[in-house]
Amino acid sequence: MQKLTVLGATGSIGINVLDVVSQHPKKFKIFALTCNTRVVELSAQCEQFKPYFAVVTDISKVKELKKLLKVASPNTIVLVGTDGLCKVASDKSVDTVVAAIVGSAGLLPTLEAAESGKKILLANKESLVMAGSLLMEAVNLSGGILMPIDSEHNAIYQCLPDQYVSPKESGVSKVLLTASGGPFRSRDKKSMREVTVDEACAHPNWKMGRKISVDSATMMNKGLEFIEACLLFGLSPDQIEVVIHPQSIVHSMVEYLDGSTLAQLSNPDMRTPIAHALAWPKRVRSGVSSLDIVSTKRLDFEPPDFERFPCLSLAISAARAGGSAPIVLNASNEVAVNAFLNNEILFTQISEVVELALKEVVSIEPNTLKLVQSCDRKTRDITLKLIKKHF
Ligand code: NAD
Ligand code: MG
Repeated sequence: MQKLTVLGATGSIGINVLDVVSQHPKKFKIFALTCNTRVVELSAQCEQFKPYFAVVTDISKVKELKKLLKVASPNTIVLVGTDGLCKVASDKSVDTVVAAIVGSAGLLPTLEAAESGKKILLANKESLVMAGSLLMEAVNLSGGILMPIDSEHNAIYQCLPDQYVSPKESGVSKVLLTASGGPFRSRDKKSMREVTVDEACAHPNWKMGRKISVDSATMMNKGLEFIEACLLFGLSPDQIEVVIHPQSIVHSMVEYLDGSTLAQLSNPDMRTPIAHALAWPKRVRSGVSSLDIVSTKRLDFEPPDFERFPCLSLAISAARAGGSAPIVLNASNEVAVNAFLNNEILFTQISEVVELALKEVVSIEPNTLKLVQSCDRKTRDITLKLIKKHF
């Protein structure tokens, strides 16, 4: 029986994880569930899965959660804040930690899970972008396992050999990172200024949280995934090519020296990569129907338009620059996306804000967690000031 902590249980990924878990009650047991504010949803999940712990990070919601759990799951113990997240991410009884908190708030508990040698199912790409080498090092030192559930990286994982160490050793020449192109794949550049929050959050193929939906619309999501792929698979930026694939059926491909290209195909439903990572190296049902390849008919591929999606270029440049550039990219993007969601800046100004922040913030070598956190905080302060000054 695999014991699981789901960080960010009430989010889009968390809900999909619990859907797969509910199909296999003899294989998986929920140890802890966490949320930020949505305690009503968390309590309903606790009623169904009866975890040992429930963690809420928004202190103002603790009383409400305790009251709800008295009826829904009286034996579930309530923990609070980042300390609570770190406790359930590292507890001895836990085998697997699903890192599905959105944004940099996921970093500390994910790192804690890595240091404790857990199997981590990583959705929270922002923590890897911020502290990639620290996180990878912690996994290696503790003997933990890092399984990506971001669909593209899970696809790459599936297309690599079992004993993969490096691209060179395995004869990998290139990784083709596919992207749907988001809701504005064919929208003209001029009208991008008028994009509304609702339009940006309406992804054609995936139903996701608001932050990642906006990231998909600007294609910053693909940029973050580019950096994520470099870190997870030891690839240099030159070994990754972003390819637009509007149908979201091929979730990425790996090209080998002998001319072979391996791809992973499935319907666009996050339960497939989640089930793969949960059950690995075995396979279990996910609830997703298999692909009807005949009625799929078309699989289209095209190069990305870097001019209409400047966030993608900014992210690739940050990957090449290394050092603190990915931290600055990630933190300024989080602040800018938040400002866009609050109608404080235009859609097209997200990339302008990130570009300004990348120029403004002094670069450092982020060798320790403290340095990572201080660069993240500094970038947030500077970005807020830049927004006030320029927009
Ligand atoms: P979401 O907004 O639907 O859910 C976010 C979860 O994080 C919620 O449970 C929320 O309670 C929690 N949370 C938010 N802020 C928090 C904070 N400050 N402290 C603690 N917990 C907090 O987001 P999502 O779409 O599920 O995405 C989660 C992560 O997975 C993101 O990093 C995203 O990039 C990644 N991801 C998502 C998808 C997808 O299909 N949704 C696909 C690939 C990767
Ligand atoms: Mg993805």
